[in-house]
Amino acid sequence: MTNATDLTLGHRVMAMIEDLAQHTDEPGRITRLYLSTAHRKAAEATLSMMQAAGLDAHIDALGSVIGRIEGTDPNAPALLIGSHIDSVVDAGRYDGNLGVVLGIAVVEALKQQGITPSCPIEVVAFGDEENVRFPSNLSTSSALAGRFNPAWLDGRDQDGISLRDALVAFGGDPEGAAALARNPARTLGYLEVHIEQGPQLEAKDLPVGIVSAINGITRARAYVIGEAGHAGTVPMNMRRDALAAVAEMIGIVERAGSTRTDTVATVGVAQVQPGAINVIPAGVDFTLDARAPDDAVREAMVQDILSECQAAAQRRGVELVIEPFMDSPATPMDKGLIEQLEIAVRSIGIEPLHLASGAGHDAVAMANLCPSAMLFVRCKGGISHNPAESITVEDADAAARVLLAAVKQIAT
Ligand SMILES: [Zn+2]
Repeated sequence: MTNATDLTLGHRVMAMIEDLAQHTDEPGRITRLYLSTAHRKAAEATLSMMQAAGLDAHIDALGSVIGRIEGTDPNAPALLIGSHIDSVVDAGRYDGNLGVVLGIAVVEALKQQGITPSCPIEVVAFGDEENVRFPSNLSTSSALAGRFNPAWLDGRDQDGISLRDALVAFGGDPEGAAALARNPARTLGYLEVHIEQGPQLEAKDLPVGIVSAINGITRARAYVIGEAGHAGTVPMNMRRDALAAVAEMIGIVERAGSTRTDTVATVGVAQVQPGAINVIPAGVDFTLDARAPDDAVREAMVQDILSECQAAAQRRGVELVIEPFMDSPATPMDKGLIEQLEIAVRSIGIEPLHLASGAGHDAVAMANLCPSAMLFVRCKGGISHNPAESITVEDADAAARVLLAAVKQIAT
């Protein structure tokens, strides 16, 4: 049907992306929060696209759209392909949607080539990945993995609407979450294609890359307590300046993230008290976000940060309190599926590059159910969660050809 250069698949993917991009809760920009009116419309549009591709499709109890084609062996476990169709506020058009429409495009291509897979193939459009509206975490993909937390139903959005009520308004079924759990023995694997959301593929001039692991994350809130004083009258050697201490700590965090392979560490918030031009800062609240694809490396990095920051606090005579509140382990991708992706990437004439994912994805939840793997697609400037998010039709085509090759290897 297609050779390496006619871009048929790429154009098909881009057409479906445009179709989904019309559905927004805010005219003039793309905002499609979980269970909103626009999410419902996008889910129905996805349903129509799946049905047109010959998939037997439905919207499940939590709003995920799921389409299935049967394989020649009715008893074979299914291969799942997917991503999400919810978005952040003022989003781009590719984050999540790309992985969904690529799954549909690959099923269409198999049909056009007259290929019936050996096992069932399901395309999944999850609804609650971005974690913007409700205090849930990958709830729709967690449900398939049998890890839906019923307490999520009572979480409320900023208008006070509970996830339970929003789900009913959407046409879903709050009591139906548990029944969505899949049997691991009936699930062969999960493949997710996603924009990279970072600059590495662009820097290496590659259209796609293979995810080695999804980073684990440590997050902490920290407080430094110093002493306020007159900025004109207290001598420098008699101060307990909380902000100067935090400045040193930010340097420690930056070094800890920079001196190891594949690690990142960030102070994203720093609030100064009392915050006046002529007052020595008395207190600073700040945050730590540290990520690594290897848990032992992340733990060592965080330990170094904690001990060096405490030493700095002691030297400066300020008090430091650090309260970690998130310790989310890394998710290594499945070795067998990574090998299949390597073969598929080579089949279109590209050398496989392996990279860690700094952001979380539905594949984190799905890895609890079945072998899971991800393919990243180059995006312009590494920009995401932004209307400037952009990929080329050539790269969309390359991603489709890699996914199609991988699906043929695994499921025919
Ligand atoms: Zn995403």
